[in-house]
Amino acid sequence: MKQYAIQRVACIEGYTANPNIYPIKLDANECAYPVSDQLKRKLCDAIMADPLTIYPDPMAEEVCAAYARLIGVNPENLAAGDGSDEILNILCSCFLDAGDKVLYFTPDFSMYGFYAEVKGNQVITVPKGADLALSADLILEAYHTYHPKMILFSNPCNPTGSILPREQVLQVLRETDCIVVVDEAYMDFCDQSVLDEVDNFDNLIVLKTCSKAYALAAIRLGFAVANPEIIQVIRKVKSPYNVSVLTQLAGRVLLEDGSYVKENVRKIAATRQWFYETMCALANDCNVLKVYPSGANFILMESPKWKEIDGACKQNGIIIRTYGNGQFRISMGTDEQMQLVADIIRQVLTGQEGDA
Ligand SMILES: *Cc1c(COP(=O)(O)O)cnc(C)c1O
Repeated sequence: MKQYAIQRVACIEGYTANPNIYPIKLDANECAYPVSDQLKRKLCDAIMADPLTIYPDPMAEEVCAAYARLIGVNPENLAAGDGSDEILNILCSCFLDAGDKVLYFTPDFSMYGFYAEVKGNQVITVPKGADLALSADLILEAYHTYHPKMILFSNPCNPTGSILPREQVLQVLRETDCIVVVDEAYMDFCDQSVLDEVDNFDNLIVLKTCSKAYALAAIRLGFAVANPEIIQVIRKVKSPYNVSVLTQLAGRVLLEDGSYVKENVRKIAATRQWFYETMCALANDCNVLKVYPSGANFILMESPKWKEIDGACKQNGIIIRTYGNGQFRISMGTDEQMQLVADIIRQVLTGQEGDA
């Protein structure tokens, strides 16, 4: 068939997700704890009361107000999107001209380069050091080398779990004259947020999502948090009805009270601590496992036996995220699921049945 797609789109590799066929899903950093039946029933009532014939509120004002209250900013600091992924796409349209450079540091979230590449921007990736950590020095050095229009990084980082201390983020913001996108998708799991600084910088955009600690990946709701000028630009460029009525109803009902989020974070942080210590002890015993500390709801590890670990997990109905280079990332499931994962990894690496 004749190829009508433009060359760079024809060549680009799309994002592929694992098929949803494994009962225990630890590959996409979703929340192991669903919202309560009580909240779901409230949502059902809200849907029943809505005619569904009318287009949604274009600016999702009520959802923005509810989320603004939860994170302690003003509603004028927020724009809502169909997941923070949509916001990444909108940001490219707002702040990048054809050929402008986008800079990020690998490994990080692969979508940072994707939308920019589709739009014909120049994507520059700079590898992180041996420990896979990011630093203000690394970012600023690359900034002065490449003169990008936009810098993006996740903090804590997906997939490494590493945290860039808030002071270093602020240093980057002070010493750069370009848009700096700080993706805080996992910041609910640690404490180095720069959300409170959005009105103090004209180049800061913080991304937030309801897909992780808020346990709502299914509804697709994310936010850009920035000073009102930047938010006005984003609201102007986005498609008019980008957040559906169903998502807005869910956001309004579920974000009314964020206490379930705190409980999720508490449980997941405790599981992460246990799993990290268990894996570090195993790494000490077997010498073929590296474990990266994490401030998020997942842990990155590395082993020459990653294929065997992945295969044994699948045999037990568990899907994890692999990268083809020895590294693999495991989202924190329930304690029971993580005990099973720990036993499987120990079995593969030492041949011993787990007893921990
Ligand atoms: C999961 C994740 C998101 C959230 O994406 P949504 O589109 O809001 O579900 C954003 N950034 C990073 C780094 C993530 O890992």
